[in-house]
Amino acid sequence: MIIDFHNHFYPKAYLDALRSGSSRVQITIDDEGNPRLHYPGDYNIAVRGHRDIAYRESVMQENNVDRQVISLTTPGTHVEEPEMAVRLACLVNDGFAEIARNSKRFIGIGTLPLSDPAASAKELDRVCRQLGFCGAMVFSNINGVALSDQRFWPVWETANDLAAVIHIHPTSPVGVEAMKDYWLMPLVGFPLDTTLAAASLVFSGVVDRFPRIKWVLGHLGGAIPYLVERLDRGFHAFKECRENIDRPPSTYLREFYYDSVNFDGRALQLAIDFAGANHILAGSDYPHQIGSLDKMFSSIAALKISEADKEAIRSGNAARLLVRD
Ligand SMILES: [Zn+2]
Repeated sequence: MIIDFHNHFYPKAYLDALRSGSSRVQITIDDEGNPRLHYPGDYNIAVRGHRDIAYRESVMQENNVDRQVISLTTPGTHVEEPEMAVRLACLVNDGFAEIARNSKRFIGIGTLPLSDPAASAKELDRVCRQLGFCGAMVFSNINGVALSDQRFWPVWETANDLAAVIHIHPTSPVGVEAMKDYWLMPLVGFPLDTTLAAASLVFSGVVDRFPRIKWVLGHLGGAIPYLVERLDRGFHAFKECRENIDRPPSTYLREFYYDSVNFDGRALQLAIDFAGANHILAGSDYPHQIGSLDKMFSSIAALKISEADKEAIRSGNAARLLVRD
């Protein structure tokens, strides 16, 4: 059994709404007939797997993927004016709920209109209580503002009340102007922005203040497992790092979950050694060009850990997270 916790889909109603013209995202069609979503600083190609659910089911069947927790991906709804963001997030979430109703293969995880934090808190409550989602996927910064910023605390308060999952997924990072060549933005900027988001949430005291939130970091947490010793050293060295928390960052970050979308066995092993096999979630990043269903399977299979731990990574940990307490 495998539950793929990190992969993406654009519901039809969302793409239709973007085409209506009142969005900041512009759509063009590429040479292969795929819509291209253009937004400030970047674009995404919506290949068939991103937008054709029947095709996607056939791909899953061929590749023995039992279930996928589908989330939106960049650009997200926060790039829009608040009113449009609220409308789009609702369309996406209702679209995911409908897909999940029609096929046991799919489970939705919410998207939030984070350019409007109050509306985001309400939408999180709706997707959890009415649509039965376990929580939401949020981006690693919101138009340059850190997730730890106090304006987002109403969202974390609601997430805490709901004991919701908050999956942090990268987006255009701060400092993106230094990443224009060689796809450095997704290759370097994305994982580092996730790292920055997680460290800031911990040092700001957000994680301490809202302890029931189940935080999940994309791409094995960026560099978190590798850098955590340095974060702890900062905690001991600098009084500013102790202003909002009274125990080392590693003690919080060990409680986080990490999706396996970094297919290097040594990186995976480091994350397991740090957070435990019971905190790693199988993920593919399908159908992005940089994602891989094959590597999701092979990287886990090659780990030198017990079969029970591999099963936990493949599906047991995700199954536990998908049920709200
Ligand atoms: Zn992704």
